[in-house]
Amino acid sequence: MSDPFDQFKFDPVAIKARYDAERDKRLKMRPDGEAQYQRMEGAFEHYAIDTFMPVKAREPQQRNVEVLIAGGGFAGLLAAGRLRDQGIDDLLIIERAGDFGGTWYWNRYPGATCDVESYIYLPMLEETGTVPSAKYVKSPEILEHVRTLARHYDLYSRALHHTVATEAKWDEDFSRWIVTTDRGDEICAKYLILASGHYRLPKLPTLEGMETFKGHSFHTSRWDYDYTGGDCDGNLTKLEDKVVGIIGTGATAIQCVPPLGEAAKHLYVFQRTPSSVDFRGNRPTDVDWFKSLKPGWQRERMDNFMMAIAGAAEVDLVDDGWTRSIHQYMQRSAAAKMTREELGRYSLMANYALMEDVRKRVDELVVDPSDREALKPWYDWLCKRPCFHDQYLQTFNRPNVTLVDTEGRGVERLTEDGIVANGKEYKVDCLIYASGFEVAAYEQGTPFPISGLGGLDLADKWKDGATTLHGLHVHGFPNFFQLTSRGSAQSSNFTHPYEGIATHIAYILRQAKDRGAEMVEVTAEAEAEWVRHHEELSVVTQKTWAECTPSYFNQEGKVTSRMLRDGTYGGGVLGLLDVLAAWRAQGDLKGLKFTSKAKAG
Ligand code: NDP
Repeated sequence: MSDPFDQFKFDPVAIKARYDAERDKRLKMRPDGEAQYQRMEGAFEHYAIDTFMPVKAREPQQRNVEVLIAGGGFAGLLAAGRLRDQGIDDLLIIERAGDFGGTWYWNRYPGATCDVESYIYLPMLEETGTVPSAKYVKSPEILEHVRTLARHYDLYSRALHHTVATEAKWDEDFSRWIVTTDRGDEICAKYLILASGHYRLPKLPTLEGMETFKGHSFHTSRWDYDYTGGDCDGNLTKLEDKVVGIIGTGATAIQCVPPLGEAAKHLYVFQRTPSSVDFRGNRPTDVDWFKSLKPGWQRERMDNFMMAIAGAAEVDLVDDGWTRSIHQYMQRSAAAKMTREELGRYSLMANYALMEDVRKRVDELVVDPSDREALKPWYDWLCKRPCFHDQYLQTFNRPNVTLVDTEGRGVERLTEDGIVANGKEYKVDCLIYASGFEVAAYEQGTPFPISGLGGLDLADKWKDGATTLHGLHVHGFPNFFQLTSRGSAQSSNFTHPYEGIATHIAYILRQAKDRGAEMVEVTAEAEAEWVRHHEELSVVTQKTWAECTPSYFNQEGKVTSRMLRDGTYGGGVLGLLDVLAAWRAQGDLKGLKFTSKAKAG
């Protein structure tokens, strides 16, 4: 058999040197890490206003419920759905937005699409009998599926929208959570599930002169269709006579730049770091194929996606850019015979090869030589969210589109009339911030103050990183479950872990009900044991993050010890779901303490 390394026709030393130089350049220019961003508060709070649904006046409510779920995105909906499957019906969801959907409520920008296959991303397709229209579906179809799920589980009657929790306190006398909201509500709940999702809040860069800009501006997650015209399909006809600037070239910009380029009189794309943009190849669903799938197919396909991403699937059912990724370069038979060290080198070379392909694709699709160079990403494939798009790169061939590459520096400041980058002012009528979101995994504090036994504040407890059992129970916080990605398993297919964990929470609450328990608590020992295990598995991930170019994945290059606990579970999604399934199968609810009514008194 030929040497498996023979296929790699590049100089790995030169590639690594370029990766390191690009990373170091960015770290030097932005030593402030995540502090370079700001929330939409104070002078900028208008950017956060819900432009999609008006906030309706209502009276404050006093409610008493069995389960309160904070968050009505996929995580919260799945928790509610699985609880209802277990016969737990007395629940209430509170949600910041005017409807369910979380990320998909807010992200309606032109071109917004999920680039994870719809057949695995849209949860409960089998339960709801939904047939997605295509392999990758746009935001409105995802939002419609969200609504289908909510109707399927009758959740509209169990929700308060445009409502944000302001505080949660555990009342030790009554063994209940008392949660207050920004609408003056007071909700007394036996159980509290924090389902605030992964991208909780949009963020803005901190640029000198931001408040002086006189043109129109908005964040991609609050797209102003009144100003641009059109909808998620594009047709932004009102931009015909407008010069538009967009700051940011992450996964969101990749999708909205093509429709902006088609519509604007002129479009300036301000780039600090290019994304890796590979082939997507969307296609309509073959309905006969879809209908031929056997019951249980969706879970099998979700699991297969995770296996394929790890290069461990016998058959690749999803067969897209995610699953082919670096493993297209790794022969399994050769890899099986390698030492750990050889395998590490092999997978690194495969990663380089994949990114060489991504850079070659830029050469093939972009005409202007300086744009071509500027659009090439120089970092490992998973240092930033990999993107897949079949029109993005070609948009830079349009005469009305200009790439303003800042070589890692970023936009410098704003003026009354425009954007300054590379020392030059670009006058624009409209400025779009494609500057991303705060991510739950590395959030400072908690989404709202949460205090448990003895008034212990969760943010204080977690100041050195999240401590949990299985990423969901926290010692000192009875009847509390967190269903965010902090200290839990993450995947580009976010709904997959959410669904598995939601099923697990519902199982535990069913057990508590059947046992007449009033309180469910994790013991200090069980939490400590899991934290040790979690940290042990996270060490490798942390090393990878330290070598990466800055992004929200690695706290903008500030790799801290907190990441060991807050970051993703090193055993992966399937590893965590296997642990949870084995724990349930054992039947002894190990690590949890159930207290009956009398004792909880
Ligand atoms: P990102 O955080 O990925 O991107 C923010 C962008 O703003 C980056 O390109 C960043 O540059 C840039 N930026 C920040 N400050 C400046 C500055 N001063 N000058 C110039 N540029 C600046 O946010 P996105 O909204 O693009 O994506 C967030 C996540 O949402 C994705 O990673 C993905 O997980 C998810 N998403 C998923 C999609 C899907 O298909 N499933 C589609 C869209 C988004 P730099 O890179 O240098 O930091």
